[in-house]
Amino acid sequence: MIKDIVIVGGGFSGYMTGLLIRHTFGSADLWPELEITIIESSSIGTIGVGESTAQNVPILLNKVGIDPYKFMKEANGTFKMSARFDNWNYEGESYHHMLYALSTILDLKLEVQKTNLYDFFNPYSEIGIDILYYLANKDSGEYGFDNLVLENKVPFIDIEGKPQIQKIREGKLRMDGMVNQDLSYALGMHMDAILSVEFLKKACKQRNITVIDGKVESWKQNGKTGNLTELKLDTGRKIKGDFFFDCTGFRRLLLGSVFEEEWIDYSKWLPQNAVSLIDGGVKYKEGEDPNVFTTLDAQKHGYMFKIPLRDRIGSGYVYSDHFIDKETIQQQQLEHWNNQGYDPSIGKQLSWTPGRYKRSWVKNCVAMGLSEGFLEPLDGSALILSLGFLTQVFFPMFHKAMEFEGLDANHYNKEVNKAYEHTRDYICYCHLQRRTDSEYWKYFKDDNNIPDSLREKIWTWAHRPPRGYEKLSSSSKPFGIGSWATIGKRSGLAGGHNAQRDLQNFKLEKIGKLINKICKEIKEEVAEDAITHKELLDFVYNRYY
Ligand SMILES: Cc1cc2nc3c(=O)[nH]c(=O)nc-3n(C[C@H](O)[C@H](O)[C@H](O)COP(=O)(O)OP(=O)(O)OC[C@H]3O[C@@H](n4cnc5c(N)ncnc54)[C@H](O)[C@@H]3O)c2cc1C
Repeated sequence: MIKDIVIVGGGFSGYMTGLLIRHTFGSADLWPELEITIIESSSIGTIGVGESTAQNVPILLNKVGIDPYKFMKEANGTFKMSARFDNWNYEGESYHHMLYALSTILDLKLEVQKTNLYDFFNPYSEIGIDILYYLANKDSGEYGFDNLVLENKVPFIDIEGKPQIQKIREGKLRMDGMVNQDLSYALGMHMDAILSVEFLKKACKQRNITVIDGKVESWKQNGKTGNLTELKLDTGRKIKGDFFFDCTGFRRLLLGSVFEEEWIDYSKWLPQNAVSLIDGGVKYKEGEDPNVFTTLDAQKHGYMFKIPLRDRIGSGYVYSDHFIDKETIQQQQLEHWNNQGYDPSIGKQLSWTPGRYKRSWVKNCVAMGLSEGFLEPLDGSALILSLGFLTQVFFPMFHKAMEFEGLDANHYNKEVNKAYEHTRDYICYCHLQRRTDSEYWKYFKDDNNIPDSLREKIWTWAHRPPRGYEKLSSSSKPFGIGSWATIGKRSGLAGGHNAQRDLQNFKLEKIGKLINKICKEIKEEVAEDAITHKELLDFVYNRYY
């Protein structure tokens, strides 16, 4: 029987794991004997990056009873509605990959003539009429509120005197009800990596989770089963546990050192393995406001992420040290910012081997966060993956009498592996956009360096557009069919005349047009009441409390 859960690692994943388990299972009527201990090492510290998230962070905070506004304020955060891809196909290009597809919230009771297709399946979701229309029409607009993003606005009705804001002030409504039940999904979050972890640590302590500072130096395993039973800290303290989470970041203490699990290396497909960070972020210029999106700015040897926080832009240049040295990267990084009138300095350099463990759940231990695997920073996939695995895949099988081997663990590991491969393929797909001006960009386009699973998709989508039934996304897989369509439309690898042909073949043109019209109308209607990102941030920071 599980009584003591020990989480090793006090980074975002360790504290979030603690909070989510405490909230979901730790109530007095469900699992009163449950004890949760988090071990962190102040001498090692946390990774200190990871500042662009999606909607999952505010939604999960809200679920565990933490006001995401409060979190945002303490974590110097801002709102996020998209990732803007700059220069991935050609210099000067810029387009938004929206976090949320507006068309997915439509309740489709359309007054149109329906063919017999509808007797057996819903072509809207299974074929993806919205996707076909989007791919077939150059001027269809992006999926979500690209109209707002272009003006740095958020879908929020007027702050003063409107009922929603009143409810928020009175504490009756939280962020996931901010706009209305559905449109609020348009909003994700940027957050300061260090401050957000401090906030979560405090929240854990308030919720009866024991937090211990100490470095795990040795351990004991059950001689028969191999299960982990005890950890010994550098302070001499011993911590016993029945179930463990490895949240030790790149150190990967439990899966790596204790269980010596096999590492699956993705370097062949993802050569990018290093980042040069800007020290303390890039300071805004006088009068400059934070964007409501992350920028992914393609460069000659990789790309820069630019994450707008309240007081600075968190940024790093992601590259491959197989092709270029860090001195050249640092020089180009500084030139890039200096040319735009900023004066930052170079900070930490990090590197990693992209990949994952063969199994994330081994014996009585599950790895979460960087310790389970890491691909690279593009489009903030890491936290979406981990938090999705925990809440969507692990939680349904978690209980006090859980067996540590068998169907559950196998299922969990399969799901994690699928999601990692899916995300790896998406990152490669992004790199198949048209740039070829260095070894870095050419590498991805070499047929030998494209994963088989991605090659199959590309081949298929050359003959027909991506279809809704492929359901590439679930809550534990960050990038859905809309994401692939957005990238594929720009690179020319998906859509165009094939999508037009399919709309005609299935007699879906009229419906596609109608859905697009409805989306446009909603966008325009919401735009009338939208407020600027700055106004909303001022409200959160100055007037909400
Ligand atoms: C360059 C880069 C950019 C990224 N960008 C994003 C992004 O935009 N969006 C996103 O979602 N994710 C991003 N990530 C991933 C993100 O940083 C992590 O998913 C997130 O910070 C969670 O980290 P963690 O908690 O797993 O590890 P860490 O923050 O490293 O925490 C590890 C914890 O384990 C402790 N520890 C280690 N060894 C021991 C030991 N022996 N004993 C006791 N304690 C120990 C440490 O002290 C620390 O408390 C990025 C990652 C990198 C490298």
